Amino acid sequence: MDVYTIAVIPGDGIGREVVPAAVEVLKVLAEVHGGFHFKFQEFPWSCDYYAEHGEMMPVDGLDILKGFDAIFLGAVGNPGLVPDHISLWGLLLKIRREFEQVINVRPAKALKGVASPLTDPQGFDLVVVRENSEGEYSEIGGRLHRGDDEMAIQAAVFTRKGTERVMRYAFELARTRRKHVTSATKSNGIYHTMPFWDEVFKDVQRDYRDVRVDSYHIDALAAQFVARPYVFDVVVASNLFGDILTDISGAVMGSIGIAPAANINVNGRYPSMFEPVHGSAPDIAGRGIANPIGQIWTGALMLEHFGHRDAAQELLQVMEDVTAEGIKTPDIGGHSGTRDVSDEICRRLRRR
Ligand code: ATP
Ligand code: MG
Repeated sequence: MDVYTIAVIPGDGIGREVVPAAVEVLKVLAEVHGGFHFKFQEFPWSCDYYAEHGEMMPVDGLDILKGFDAIFLGAVGNPGLVPDHISLWGLLLKIRREFEQVINVRPAKALKGVASPLTDPQGFDLVVVRENSEGEYSEIGGRLHRGDDEMAIQAAVFTRKGTERVMRYAFELARTRRKHVTSATKSNGIYHTMPFWDEVFKDVQRDYRDVRVDSYHIDALAAQFVARPYVFDVVVASNLFGDILTDISGAVMGSIGIAPAANINVNGRYPSMFEPVHGSAPDIAGRGIANPIGQIWTGALMLEHFGHRDAAQELLQVMEDVTAEGIKTPDIGGHSGTRDVSDEICRRLRRR
């Protein structure tokens, strides 16, 4: 029996509603599946913790987390209590950076029973693999004054190591899916970094001759995400392009409340972190109506990461049966509460 230790950080706002709901689902899944077991340990690190202790987590917080197999996080942020830059850098971004979570994985799929702004009946099922540590979001650059002219210069940093790493991850993932990788580029407009990106993509693809490849300029790709998202399987993108593409893919799914995500450490030195796309949603927090699907699907990504693809698939199937049945929170057009959705998923898992 595989045993996984999971550090659970519900965080703020609806994180405290959707995380316990998702943990319950994962416990039931492990119970009925039988091949693995979770040991969950909860940490109260959040903006409330900050209000009491003057920090988002204890000084030895990272040392504590290091010992776990994975981190299961809800959402962090309560701008009324703690400025966002403090809450983000004090916990979320600190973990991402210190634990070298260099790859961000964000699946997007048309779920049965969830109305998408896209009217195309074909549906879609894709994953964006985003570089999470370098690229356009560098700290290199600055402000200059030349006479009366003021300007800002921002450098984008693409290392061969970082670029190859994210591309290999995308190709490996594609081998477990429909064996198709699309590269998001802009080598017709960006002079240095994007031709380099294309070159590395060509080099890496030689090791994956069984995988079909294509390449789109980011502007055309953004349009295709709306017009024909079903033509994509795995899409590999730089930090900025991936950021934009995953907002689009999240929007075309129908609600940010269902979008899952994973921050992956690929060198095995530190745990990876599983955290849905949505934030703490202070506007609906405490009302029991937050959609738990994003958090539950994120739990399925964690299972896939541990190699339990069958259990992850089973969970996704049941999750979709429940939305198809109309047991949905208000953000996707239903009248059910957070716990109605997770309880129904648990009930169906037990019945299988
Ligand atoms: P952050 O800065 O943490 O990303 P944000 O305010 O930009 O926060 P969210 O907290 O994700 O973004 O909220 C955006 C909108 O989506 C809000 O109106 C919120 O109520 C809604 N929302 C987010 N997550 C959910 C969810 N799980 N269920 C229902 N609605 C949600
Ligand atoms: Mg936001």
